Amino acid sequence: MTSSECLYSAKDGMVSLGPEGIALRRWLETRLSELEKVCSPTQRSYPPMLPVKDLARFDYFHNFPHIALCAAPVSLDAIQGSYGGKPHGQLEIIRHEDLADSEYVLPSAACYPVFFDLQGATIETTLHTGVMAQCFRNEPRYEGLIRLRAFSMKEIVCVGTLESAQAHLILFRNEISQLLQSLGIPFSIRPAVDSFYDKASSRAVMQRLVPVKEEFLYEDQLAISSLNLHRNFFGERCGIKLPGGQPAFSSCVGFGIERWMHTLLSHFGGDLQRIERALAG
Ligand SMILES: [Zn+2]
Repeated sequence: MTSSECLYSAKDGMVSLGPEGIALRRWLETRLSELEKVCSPTQRSYPPMLPVKDLARFDYFHNFPHIALCAAPVSLDAIQGSYGGKPHGQLEIIRHEDLADSEYVLPSAACYPVFFDLQGATIETTLHTGVMAQCFRNEPRYEGLIRLRAFSMKEIVCVGTLESAQAHLILFRNEISQLLQSLGIPFSIRPAVDSFYDKASSRAVMQRLVPVKEEFLYEDQLAISSLNLHRNFFGERCGIKLPGGQPAFSSCVGFGIERWMHTLLSHFGGDLQRIERALAG
């Protein structure tokens, strides 16, 4: 077994981990679990696919059709006829005309199901939810651990008043900064365009006046974490209310797990013992 097979291999935008890669990921996840204790989120896990009709309520297919990956079964007609045009041992693709309609999409972020789950709820006290999900994005090109078709995203979501949603981001801005400083990892924090909103919309104009998304960049280039203020967008779309009846506000903090792994490997020159010690604090 080569050293890269012990650590990881990446092909076609997907990653396989060997024993060392699994250990690295576990050390990182343990450290991030410590970090999130500042808000003691309730941990939840959701199904690996999202209904098209739910995501459509967030204007998802208007704003991001280019990254969506749909899951569709082979159509009954195709199964009963002949499909593929080749002996089935040699099939490389299933042609779109042989697929049935897609009711489900592979998620591109971990936090969407949190809002579907709260549909119609009244938020009496601020909710903090921790989610880890396999996420998917259709991209024009893929690169190592930093641009993937399938990747893991950890998110810590806050739903409540505007003040609590903002306080959540201030808290984690500080926590993540301290973690990166303690690891000696060079980073910067930059405002980013929030991809939830149509660029031409009044929301996007408002966002340029008051940044609602910030990213932690490793070496000024690679976004490894993000802080996102959704305002009351998800509250409005999912009927999530505050006790007074007005739509709830939300925010989320995201960690791209494979990008953090890349950052650790790059910064510590691939020295796993040093990474383990540094993450253990
Ligand atoms: Zn999110």
